[in-house]
Formats: sequence, C-alpha cells, structure tokens
Amino acid sequence: MNIAQSVADLRTYFNTGATRSYEWRMSQLDAVVRLVEENEEALMKALMEDSGKADFTAYSGDVMFVRGEALHTKKHLKKWMKPRKAGSPLMLKPAKSYIQPEPLGVVLIIGAWNFPLHLTLGPLCGAIAAGNTCMIKPSEVSPKVSALVCELVPKYLDARAVHVVEGGVEETTQILAQRFDKILYTGNSHVAKIIMQAAAKHLTPVTLELGGKNPCIVHEDANLDVAASRIIDVKCSNAGQICVSADYLLVHDKIYNDFLPKLSSRIREFFGDDPQQSPDYSRIINGRHLMRLKALLDEGTIYHGGRMDERDNYLEPTILVDVPENAKVMQEEIFGPILPVFKYSELHEALAFINQREKPLALYVFTESDAVHADVEQETSSGAMVRNHLMVHASNQALPFGGVGNSGMGCYHGQFSFDNMSHLKSVMIKPTWMDPRGAYPPFDDKAMAMRKKITRWLMS
Ligand code: NAD
Repeated sequence: MNIAQSVADLRTYFNTGATRSYEWRMSQLDAVVRLVEENEEALMKALMEDSGKADFTAYSGDVMFVRGEALHTKKHLKKWMKPRKAGSPLMLKPAKSYIQPEPLGVVLIIGAWNFPLHLTLGPLCGAIAAGNTCMIKPSEVSPKVSALVCELVPKYLDARAVHVVEGGVEETTQILAQRFDKILYTGNSHVAKIIMQAAAKHLTPVTLELGGKNPCIVHEDANLDVAASRIIDVKCSNAGQICVSADYLLVHDKIYNDFLPKLSSRIREFFGDDPQQSPDYSRIINGRHLMRLKALLDEGTIYHGGRMDERDNYLEPTILVDVPENAKVMQEEIFGPILPVFKYSELHEALAFINQREKPLALYVFTESDAVHADVEQETSSGAMVRNHLMVHASNQALPFGGVGNSGMGCYHGQFSFDNMSHLKSVMIKPTWMDPRGAYPPFDDKAMAMRKKITRWLMS
C-alpha cells in the first residue's frame, strides 16, 4: 500500500464533507457494532491465537468494550454534536456565544498488542463519531487480530473513510512522515517520544495513552478479604498485561502477615493449584516478554508462584517480597503477573514512596476511611484513582481515561473520545443594531475616562 496516497485519499474524502452528517456517523457506528457482533467467534479465536488470552478477558476487554463504546456513542451522539451553550459577559453584550464541535480531519490511531481490538476500534468510535476520516495501525505484535481488523474494517465501514495499515516500525515510520490532524497512540513511553517528535513536524496534536507503575495501597483498616479478591482478580487478568493493573502493593505493616496468605489463597481459589491448566488464566504475549519478566524475578524472595513454561509462554501468578527498592522489578513497568509487595507503617511513607516515582496511570487504595482516601487523593497525582477496587474506572464511559506526566497525555472514552477527536470551536455572534461611536478611535481623554468608568462598573 502506498501510505502517502492512502492519507491523501482520506483527506480528499474528508474534504468532500461526506463524513460530517449525523446519518453518516451513525451508520459507521452501526457498522462497528455489526463488525464485532457478526465476527465475535473469529475475533475471539484471533485474540486467543495471538496471545493465549483467556476467553473472559478477550470477551470483556476487547469485544464487549468496543461494542459498548459504539452503542454508548450512538446513544449520545446527537447531543454531543449540538452547539454547547456559553455565556457572554456583560461587557461584550449584546452577543450570543456557543461552542461548536467540528471534525479535525484525518486521524491516526496506533494501537498496542495487549487489547488489540479495544485499542484500535475503541478510539475509532470517537474518530468517526466526531466526523473524521481515520487511518488505523494495529500492533504487529498481535498479527492475527491485526490481519482480521484489516480484512473486516473495509467490509463493514466506509472504505473511503477508514483505512487500516498493517506493519511494524518501518510502516509506522512511513505513516508518521505524513501529516495528520490528530494522532492517538497507545503503547510505551519510549515510542511515545518518537510519535511526539514526528507529530511536532506538522504541529499535529497527540493523545498518548501510556503505562507506568500503578501502586496499590492496602491500609490497615481495609476489608482484607475483598482487597485480596479484587487485587488478584485484576492482577491475574490477561496475566497482568494491562496498563491499569496493579504494578506493586504497599501494605500496612499491621496487616501484612494476615494479608499475604489471603493473596496466595485467592490465586489457588481462582486458578487452582496449577494455573497453567486454568481456562481463565492467560499467557504472556511472546517469548521475548517472558524472558523480560523472568529477569525481574532475580531480586527479592518469591512468596508465591514463580513457575514458568517457556514452550507455553506461561508464567504463574507470582508474589515477590523483600524486594530492594532499587531492584529491576521496581525500575520499569512490570506488565506481567508479578506482584512485588512492600510494607509501610505510616501513610505518609507510602505516599512518599509513590511520589518519588513517575506519575502512574492509575493509583489504588483499599481503605474504609474517608480521611485516608482524602490524603491519598490530595497528596498524589495519577491518571485515575480508585478506592476499594482496581481497573473499574476504565469501564465507566462517564470518566475520562488517560494518564498524566509519564503515563500519558489527553484522554478518551465516551464523550471524552468525541471531544478528543473534535475541535471545540468558539463561536460568537454580535448584532449590528448597537454600534456606539465611542468604541472606535480616536480616543480622547473623555472617551478614556468613560471607558474606565464603564469597564469598572461592568466588572465589579
Ligand atoms: P506495541 O509493541 O504493540 O507498540 C505499540 C505500537 O507502537 C505498535 O503499533 C507498534 O507498531 C508501534 N511502534 C513500536 N515501535 C515503534 C517505533 N520505533 N516507531 C513507531 N512506532 C512504533 O506495544 P507496547 O509499547 O509494548 O505496549 C505496552 C505498553 O502500552 C505498556 O506500557 C502499557 O502500559 C501501555 N498501554 C497503555 C494503555 C493505555 O490505554 N494507557 C493501554 C494498553 C497498553
């Protein structure tokens, strides 16, 4: 495929205005719903073949997410497209002000492998809902899903408006040489810098959906049974290869000895004595990532798990204790089923531990105390914060999803996707029936005095 030509075609089609109507946008969202509904089996199979993803995770995190995002967008699109009321200050009256969302043009979506449908067709819902044309570049690390998206998108969606380009670094580099009106990239922060540099050449705005080390605090007053269930459930989902998984635990020392066995027993309860046999436990994406994770087990003591099977890209859910703070496992995002656990005795120590590191994508705290919640919320910064659960915020379309600092910039999901892919244009209408002579030069002392008096009065 000639990438430059493809982007030029997308721009030409955008310029015809065909993608602007409400009807076109709704038809494309319908097409996304049909695409996932009619190909559910094939998509689930591709997700399984690419990454050994457990059925429940593939269904809820990829297929259901995209369907839900498209249906939610359809339900609210008419309202989102409407002009939004804005006031006009007295000084500028008479006037009418409003904000009109308008499409940006040609949008580029670059997806990552861990939820390859979610991270491509999910943001696509926002892009087409906002009336843009779109190029999608799925991750080459999940090749079966990439090929299926490439095959299905032109069958269901308007092929003049949405192009899928497959490939890795070489193709993405060619794509990034083109001018887009918005880039939404999901992946690691190293590549994010490459994306931003390429975008800067064209002054293209970017949304970067990145990762990081998400802390999870378990305070002394936490409901330990619920905390153990939720932490293990989320940490083991997709074998920890989720950007909003818990990266490490900070557990109050008063409950540390009671809590650790609960984590172990939840792993056994959910996945049996041999999680490799459990249909609910996923695999590591490939051998390279398995070896990367293996190297993270070199420091600290394995409290639970640690078994692996290289032929099956399998790594058992693994809890690490007595980990040196500067261990490799604490230097990078784990993105796998390894959970280092640290002790703290005062909340401020836990918060200091978090604040010494880059701002995470998500921060979790288990506590029954509003005061502890308030301290954590006010004294830390993260893309999102959840109390007494993990990851659930990502399914709430009323909340913006995105990072801060090293965990990303910009946000999407629900209306935030629509706004992300739109320009919010300020519009102001002034009547001509009032046009006082004193508004124009020359401004003598009398006019200046009058202007000062009026502005002081209007602004008081
Ligand atoms: P990946 O290897 O699939 O790469 C992501 C995309 O970047 C791919 O499409 C790939 O082709 C492209 N790419 C890779 N190298 C490139 C280069 N040199 N130049 C241009 N493009 C290049 O995925 P990954 O980066 O391993 O993804 C894992 C990371 O993504 C983790 O840090 C995770 O936390 C983060 N993530 C974030 C979110 C989120 O929504 N915030 C979601 C999922 C994953």
